[in-house]
Amino acid sequence: MTADLTSGPTLVGAPPAARVTDAAKVYGKGDAVVRALDGVTVGFPAGRFTAIMGPSGSGKSTLMHCAAGLDTLTSGSAHIGDTDLGSLTDRQLTLLRRDRVGFVFQSFNLVPTLTVAENITLPLDLAGARPDMAWVDALIDVVGLGDRLLHRPSELSGGQQQRVAVARALAGRPEVVFADEPTGNLDSRSGGEVLELLGRAVHDMGRTVVMVTHDPVAAAHADEVVFLADGRLVDRMARPTAGRVLDRMKAFDGRTGTADGRTGTAEGAAR
Ligand code: ADP
Repeated sequence: MTADLTSGPTLVGAPPAARVTDAAKVYGKGDAVVRALDGVTVGFPAGRFTAIMGPSGSGKSTLMHCAAGLDTLTSGSAHIGDTDLGSLTDRQLTLLRRDRVGFVFQSFNLVPTLTVAENITLPLDLAGARPDMAWVDALIDVVGLGDRLLHRPSELSGGQQQRVAVARALAGRPEVVFADEPTGNLDSRSGGEVLELLGRAVHDMGRTVVMVTHDPVAAAHADEVVFLADGRLVDRMARPTAGRVLDRMKAFDGRTGTADGRTGTAEGAAR
């Protein structure tokens, strides 16, 4: 049995911006079959910063990709708001990703020939939407790159490029921003700045962020951490600190994927 962690004491009053229910993802066939997700039910509450943690190969990226509509589940369902992603055509999924979801990747993925300003408004321009300049200006203020708007990405440090990528992800005010190891290519100081920025987007600007990371220090910036092991959700932790997250990771038993050999449960939350 997998614990149902869609609800819980930390989530009262916060409906999920994104959620998966009984999510399974199977790769390969026969002897080569891999259950990357094995019955995961989890909600990512609106207006919160959630980190997805777990050992390498535990299914973090697969969960994020399926929750964000970048990949499809083998069984189970994924919702953004009230929209069941499984009910959408490819075209509708493309529009949903464009209009309702923001993405931040480890490798920044800025367009090298465009300026900082053009990169930030690119998704809106592609959608033919008129940018809300007051919002974009506020974002530029928050990312602290107002004096770099006409620079190209190659003229910026990695940390600055990732801050541009965060602004780009937020420019259209998506319902949820998914960040996949956003600090993976950064030194700890630049990484800290990017994490602080993601935290401000949530706590000062009311956005919703879901971040995959394997770094306890990064996870400690989140309001809540959900832990995966062997494709299953095994625990969640509210108000994490790096030390508590690290302790929790150390407690994973590599064989069963659960902590100290016990079955992970929602009771592990908010300790
Ligand atoms: P994590 O992000 O936690 O490192 P992943 O979600 O990338 O984990 O992978 C979970 C499991 O699924 C791993 O065993 C991985 O090898 C496997 N996997 C991921 N993508 C594929 C794929 N395209 N084909 C086959 N196996 C895959």
